[in-house]
Amino acid sequence: MAVLDPVSRNYGRLKNYVNGEWVDSGSSKALEVRDPATTDVIAQVPLSTKEETKAAIETAQEAWWSWRETAPGDRTRCFFKLKTIMEREYENIARIISQEQGKTIDDARGETRRCIDNVDVAAGITSLQMGYNLEDGAASNIDEEVIVSPLGVFAAVCPFNFPGMVPFWFWPYAVATGNMFIVKPSEQVPITTQYMFKLIDQAGFPPGVINLVNGREDAVNTFFDHKDIKGISFVGSTPVAKWIYKTAGEKGKKVQAQGGAKNSLVVMPDAVLDKTVNNMLASFYGCAGQRCLAGSNMIAIGDVAEPLLKKWLDASRNLKVGCGLDEASQMGPVISAAAKEKVLGYIQKGVDEGAKLLLDGRGIKVPGFEKGHFIGPTVFDDVTPDMTIAKEEIFGPVVCFHRMKNLDEAIEFIHQSPFGNASSIYTQSGKLAREFRYRCQVGNVGINVGLVAAMAYFPFAGYKDSFFGDLHGQGQDAVKFFSDR
Ligand code: NAD
Repeated sequence: MAVLDPVSRNYGRLKNYVNGEWVDSGSSKALEVRDPATTDVIAQVPLSTKEETKAAIETAQEAWWSWRETAPGDRTRCFFKLKTIMEREYENIARIISQEQGKTIDDARGETRRCIDNVDVAAGITSLQMGYNLEDGAASNIDEEVIVSPLGVFAAVCPFNFPGMVPFWFWPYAVATGNMFIVKPSEQVPITTQYMFKLIDQAGFPPGVINLVNGREDAVNTFFDHKDIKGISFVGSTPVAKWIYKTAGEKGKKVQAQGGAKNSLVVMPDAVLDKTVNNMLASFYGCAGQRCLAGSNMIAIGDVAEPLLKKWLDASRNLKVGCGLDEASQMGPVISAAAKEKVLGYIQKGVDEGAKLLLDGRGIKVPGFEKGHFIGPTVFDDVTPDMTIAKEEIFGPVVCFHRMKNLDEAIEFIHQSPFGNASSIYTQSGKLAREFRYRCQVGNVGINVGLVAAMAYFPFAGYKDSFFGDLHGQGQDAVKFFSDR
């Protein structure tokens, strides 16, 4: 069934995928999806109704027992098939991600690889799902065992910045362990998920095992209200993550809710500066700063400040901003007019609160894409811990440059933040690296690495307002989340 052409200019009104069929939503509510580089409308996404969401949950529940009884080794065959299909479609997937999200095609290729990585790991479920036992564990002649069993129907509510990868943090593990799944993509970037489901449709999963419901409040509230939803995986902003966590508690659902971030990268005087700058470029400017792992505060310790700042400004000025699908682009647009407005508001706030604006990305024009939501690299110097730009998630290509005396001061600043997603140190000293890793209270710690992205076989961690729950996405944590064990 030809549901989508890879990188078509207009994908039309998107569909839901329920019980192995493509279905039109009858909802009277729909939103436009725009290409952030051109601002052209490239699709309409329906906001599915409560009844439609309920129907998806109930058909999944009805089909569950048959999937639960399918041997894990048989379930994994669908994953091996999906992997083959995704490898073949690798470039098409990346192009769609780049077009609808705006990130560079290279970033989108990396994201596509992360999706496939999770399929790879979930294909090993025959080892991952094993339980454990103890002979004579209850008493002499009475053995005891733990069986890792699936629970039923789960759902994921996903953000706009990784339209490919984030659903893959969850659904492969849920489905491989014998559960049913519903993906609700971000209404800002629903096309990638539509395309992924075209591929999933070819992989041989039985009807009802994996479903797609486009939408927003009505869909999410129905997940909470329906008795057959066993748990919710969420990734998005902190206020929504907090609401999801609280509501899931009230409604008796399992929950894992990943929130926002404000990440600090610390550069010690002994850091190898060229390599450091090169590595940090991807952290601060990759995905136009719209990553939960993006660097936002750059902390220079002692006399590294001047040489670091000079190299950073040179590199920032040379960064090529353009349409993500252009192979030469090093940074694409932010997702929407509203997102751009928000970032520009933060830049103005930085100026108003007294930070020194050394590089101003506000007026940037990209030839051929004059209407696009572009913001150029922006660098503030003399940022102090009390400033709004030092504390809040900006989610744009804005660098807050701090000068601090020593590592203690930097760690104290990092710990003042309500967020705790990631932090990195750049140093040649093993002692300092170890000390930073040991003391820093964030979920993902980097040593000479500015993007501390957990591979599929590790959990994607986060502390404080960056994560609500105990079991994370990916790897063994995901297997446990989707099981009774
Ligand atoms: P968002 O919170 O606006 O939306 C996330 C999802 O929640 C979307 O699917 C949206 O439809 C849904 N949603 C939002 N408000 C809702 C409501 N009132 N009722 C029901 N559903 C609602 O987040 P976003 O802007 O799409 O994503 C960016 C945020 O995600 C950033 O804060 C970023 O740091 C965070 N993020 C975190 C991680 C992580 O691992 N910690 C990873 C990626 C993104």
